[in-house]
Amino acid sequence: MKFLVHTYGCQMNVRDSEAVEALMIAAGHEKVSDENDAELVIVNSCTVRQKAENKAVGKMGYLCSTGKMTGLMGCAVKRLKRDVFKVLPKLDFAVGPRAFGLIPQIVASLADKKPERDSKGAQILELGDDAVPTGLDAHEISGFKAFVTVLVGCDNRCSYCIVPDVRGHEYSRPEAEIVAEVESLVKNGVKEVCLLGQSVLRYGVRDGKTDAFPALLERLCQIKGLERIRFTSAHPKGCTDELVRVYRTYPQICRHLHLPVQSGSDRILKEMGRRYTRAEYLAAVKKLRDFDPEFALTTDIIVGYPGETEEDFEATRSLMEEAGFDNSFVFKYSPRPGTRSAKLPDDVSVEEKERRDQVLLADQERRGLERNSRLVGTVREVMVEGPSKRNAARWSGRDGGNRIVVWEGARPAGSVVKVRITEAHSQILIGELA
Ligand code: SAH
Ligand code: SF4
Repeated sequence: MKFLVHTYGCQMNVRDSEAVEALMIAAGHEKVSDENDAELVIVNSCTVRQKAENKAVGKMGYLCSTGKMTGLMGCAVKRLKRDVFKVLPKLDFAVGPRAFGLIPQIVASLADKKPERDSKGAQILELGDDAVPTGLDAHEISGFKAFVTVLVGCDNRCSYCIVPDVRGHEYSRPEAEIVAEVESLVKNGVKEVCLLGQSVLRYGVRDGKTDAFPALLERLCQIKGLERIRFTSAHPKGCTDELVRVYRTYPQICRHLHLPVQSGSDRILKEMGRRYTRAEYLAAVKKLRDFDPEFALTTDIIVGYPGETEEDFEATRSLMEEAGFDNSFVFKYSPRPGTRSAKLPDDVSVEEKERRDQVLLADQERRGLERNSRLVGTVREVMVEGPSKRNAARWSGRDGGNRIVVWEGARPAGSVVKVRITEAHSQILIGELA
């Protein structure tokens, strides 16, 4: 069967979609890139904010009207449960975020469901709940970079977040399984892996282990040919001395962390249940920047959390300045059913959320430029990605800090080149081959 997977949401979803593609190809199906050619279309959905869910479900709704075989996977399925078929009556199957491994089997079973499919969708539902997902290690390797899921689910209960409800409790994959997966990727030409978990530094914590994540990093650093290791997302509680020691010891661990802070106001952080104060967060930042002043930090912010005052907002602005974020992603608060904060009045107006979003974006634009300007004249080690999308004469790649670097002159994708920076912009560095 010719199939296509559309993906919405986070990197975890991107990785799950890749695994589904690999499993489907292994089952004899053919991946196509044009929706018109596909006989089966799968949409991998997000529900972290209502708008994200609406986009994925809206796309699926359109696809259900085309007569193709259709499947919805991911977080929105787990939120909607059986109601997914009220919203999408012609849908053939829906699988939760821990059940994607069942898709090839479900697709095979649909061959016998022609009568059902002629009247409405076949409406097969597999929620998966807290199951250990199968197919986590399935890859179709197409480049030099790969995502590897190490921790599934989330045991933090941030007040606003639906992720623990939809992705279930934490499950840390055995180290040996992860090592075997990365070794096999490297044998097939992968040079950079990004380890994924909602709060990835909690790897092993549910099993009572301490510093299991730095130990995993150290083990992966022994793999010859693996040039770069990244991981996401991080939490300040996981920024231990042991993590810093491992950073110091192994240059292949990239000097970049995505360290979502959400707010700079202690009062809001407490209400969110983030388990750190502003001072504790900034102490983690200091630890990383003391070790490497160029350590790149990116973050997530929520604006307009219930009861967020102008003063709370200003505290977020000042924290962002103090932390010196290289990039940030700002989200407008969206109440999610079943979460603790959904019981609070969503009392910051849409206009005010929009204003706060714009203010933070403008701050980041200026700060990004300031931070990048400090790199002018330095030489960056850049892993080549390919020709730049905007200008084919230019090539682009990323430095260890995940900064985009652009220069003139073709170089093989996946190789590491030295680029002297000549020009800085807020989101990109320009330079020449050194
Ligand atoms: N596991 C990651 C976050 C996953 S969700 C972590 O904790 O690091 C990605 C981002 O979406 C969060 O960091 C948060 O900024 C945002 N987000 C989550 N729930 C939200 C909500 N209800 N409204 C607005 N933004 C939200
Ligand atoms: Fe959501 Fe918090 Fe878990 Fe991140 S750590 S997925 S924000 S509950």
